Amino acid sequence: MKIRIILAASLKTFTDRTPEVALEADTVSGALQALTDEYPEAARGLFDENGDLRGFVNIYVNDRDIRTLKGIGTPLHDGDEIFLIPAIAGGACESVISTERMKAVTIEEKEIRRYSNHLQLKEISIKGQKRIMASRVLVAGIGALGGVVAERLAAAGVGTIGLADAQEVTLEGLQTQTIHSTRDLERPRAAAAKDRLKKLNPLVTTVAHQEQLTGDNVEEIIADYDIVVDATDNFVSRYLISDACVLNGKPEVFGAMYQYEGVVTVLGTKDGPCLRCLYPSPPPAGIVPTCAASGVVNTLPGIIGAMIATEVLKLITGGGEPLIGKVLAMDSWNLRYHTLHTGKDSGCPVCGRSPVIRAVQDIDYDDFCGLREDPDEEPIDLIEPEELARRISDGDRITIVDVREPHERAVHRFPGTLIIPIGQLARRQKELDPEIDTIFVCMEGKRSILAIRTLREAGYTGPMYSLKGGFETAAQIIFPNEGAWL
Ligand SMILES: [Zn+2]
Repeated sequence: MKIRIILAASLKTFTDRTPEVALEADTVSGALQALTDEYPEAARGLFDENGDLRGFVNIYVNDRDIRTLKGIGTPLHDGDEIFLIPAIAGGACESVISTERMKAVTIEEKEIRRYSNHLQLKEISIKGQKRIMASRVLVAGIGALGGVVAERLAAAGVGTIGLADAQEVTLEGLQTQTIHSTRDLERPRAAAAKDRLKKLNPLVTTVAHQEQLTGDNVEEIIADYDIVVDATDNFVSRYLISDACVLNGKPEVFGAMYQYEGVVTVLGTKDGPCLRCLYPSPPPAGIVPTCAASGVVNTLPGIIGAMIATEVLKLITGGGEPLIGKVLAMDSWNLRYHTLHTGKDSGCPVCGRSPVIRAVQDIDYDDFCGLREDPDEEPIDLIEPEELARRISDGDRITIVDVREPHERAVHRFPGTLIIPIGQLARRQKELDPEIDTIFVCMEGKRSILAIRTLREAGYTGPMYSLKGGFETAAQIIFPNEGAWL
């Protein structure tokens, strides 16, 4: 059968940036075999050391999750499309706001004018707007996505908006984070957003939670809210929020972005899946870069953020068709949308029939997300930026390998390096000299560690070091006269 495999952006590194592969196969398993025959690097991304499909990759045949079909044995037909979607990191429903809470809200004259657009809509009208005004929504992560969500919800009149974020406004963030202004630089993002929302709509209450969500505080923080929006940028927070929402019966709207692509879904409802149902395990640390490390087109948060806010309004008003059991995946650059059907996993450790996770405090999320070192694994040697700067200026015989993506190298140059993307390392190891030190450089110091592990697995025995903190930390030390942004 002639079929096509379509890869999400973060998997394209394994196929030399090819987004679509046409091939012949009779089953999903045959198609994956044909894909990895053509692109051997893809095998490492898709399969673990036992040859099992990695838990962070979901496969859809014509928008249907293969877990709802016949798994990798699902038969294919001419013209079928297979979508490979990694974790980054339907149906109408009842309003999450009770009738009593809705009735307790009174709409005053000033609110009738301010909210007149919604009041004119049959699907929202007075009851829906009262529910919006009665609702309490926590937005976790007030960056590009969370900022758009918070602004839309404030303007909509959501009664209380929680802003959970521990970071500060940075210059690099301003291109995508329009909730923050240049004058907010170095202020806490949660506090700056609170000020902005107050100006936008003084009728809503905003609460800044200026702390990192952890197993110790997440349940206490989400307890005050009806709905949680996950607009964070790391897998530790995402699994923590999803688990906490399931364990505390809170619906969650999940949104994520990568370069030009975004996904939105609703998790944690009674009948719908949670994050662990969709992605039982996060990708290995460093394999999927964050937006900060991989770039994002600045219009995308506007699109995905508005979609997230729309899902929140649907959950509040009980109208429309929320993305429960469905993942909306959008490629803004080629303007393609797919609504992928998902489902609750009866074996899910949090929301399945026999859950084994009963408290977030019991999970070591750093460990789960591969951020903690495996004691059995040979430790990775790190090199401090100062040390590397010294060795470069001394003219030491070393090889520096840059494993960053081309767009990252275009913004921050590192002259005099050997450029090898992670996906090509194993096959290009002969370009390295095992007699001298090889130093790996990436953006944040995580993919360089992955690079060393990849080469060790491939049998390379020369001395290898990872640049501590990556280029982001090292640029000002190694290139003090050129600034961080070259
Ligand atoms: Zn689940």
